[in-house]
Amino acid sequence: MIRLRLKKGRETSLERHHPWLFSGGIASVEGDGADGLAEVLDSQERVRAHGSYSPGSQIVARLWTFDGRVPDRALLLERFEAARRLRESVLPPRTTGYRAVNSEGDLCPGILLDIYGGVAVLDLLTGGVEKWEEDTVSAVNSVFHPEELLVRRTGSERDRGASKSEIRTSKSEIRLVPFFENGLRFFADVASGQKTGFFLDQRDNRMRLGALSKGRTALNLFSYSGAFSVAALAGGAERAVDVDSSDAALELAREHRRANGLPAEEADFVRADVFDDLRRRASAEERWDIVVCDPPAFAKKRGDVAGAARGYKEINRLAMSLVKPGGFLLTCSCSGHVDADLFQKIVFSAALDAGASFSITARQGAGADHPVSLECPEGEYLKGLWLSRAI
Ligand code: SAH
Repeated sequence: MIRLRLKKGRETSLERHHPWLFSGGIASVEGDGADGLAEVLDSQERVRAHGSYSPGSQIVARLWTFDGRVPDRALLLERFEAARRLRESVLPPRTTGYRAVNSEGDLCPGILLDIYGGVAVLDLLTGGVEKWEEDTVSAVNSVFHPEELLVRRTGSERDRGASKSEIRTSKSEIRLVPFFENGLRFFADVASGQKTGFFLDQRDNRMRLGALSKGRTALNLFSYSGAFSVAALAGGAERAVDVDSSDAALELAREHRRANGLPAEEADFVRADVFDDLRRRASAEERWDIVVCDPPAFAKKRGDVAGAARGYKEINRLAMSLVKPGGFLLTCSCSGHVDADLFQKIVFSAALDAGASFSITARQGAGADHPVSLECPEGEYLKGLWLSRAI
């Protein structure tokens, strides 16, 4: 166990139980961090917290306890059990794909677990929790009883110290894992897909989309696996078009429609840069009942915010110009560094430039299987604004 001593006056974030300990707050380091365990002392030598130690990261420790308890397999079991019970209460019926453990939101900083049917995908996000792999894997097996467990390590390089991002599967032949969401059939590309294979965090937005799609047309931008279109078509949409720059993503989108017995016309899958595609559609004066715009994170770090704001504004301005009066735009941002307030302002300024009036009908982020701890509001990254076009 490594002993991290805080600089004088750096206790405040610990008093608020914030789970991130930044390296700038550390006065001295003692001992050996080989087991990934950190003990945090204040300048008065009082033990304040315990957690996992990631020497290569700016967030040098992720804190798990503030009551003197040293994290071990029993603690992992308790935290995973609590996470499992929460899912039992909040998941919709006929849903076998969900986030089972959501890092700080389940008081398990650095650990993500997604479940797709019988397959669990564990993502060890930091160098610290990587050292706890054996206990973590064993606790996942005891609490969730997956038929198979895959381990990924996809945290950012800076967070991981020297070790590389990697995905390790115990049975390399597994790629597409079937599961259900609200009775719809999907596949998670667990070996090479984005995230742990599927964007589980958009489930509630897919449900809302399905509920208002009947008889309407939908344009799905940055479609990845086309899951929004599947929800729209299953809800009775007249037509849904997916736009993405990746062939592999569009192939999965075709597969998803086929698996649900939905129409999959070749013209409904467009491989293009969304910015170019939207400019073409805008100059052709296309009009859609519903446009979904869910791009990748434009701001990966704080310094990217200004550039990201320009990107969000441009993409929203173009998307808005395609929405019929009376129609809807679902616009999302998953950039943690662009907060809800800033995102709404960007979207407003896009509407002004588009010469259109939109009203917010709902704000919908990630579902309840992606809980956000009040102690760590940074865990809230996905913002979705449902807008209806007045004029
Ligand atoms: N909306 C998706 C998730 C989007 S992930 C869902 O609900 O599942 C982002 C997607 O955007 C990826 O599939 C990526 O291939 C695509 N992408 C990124 N930049 C793009 C661009 N400029 N034009 C088109 N597609 C892009």
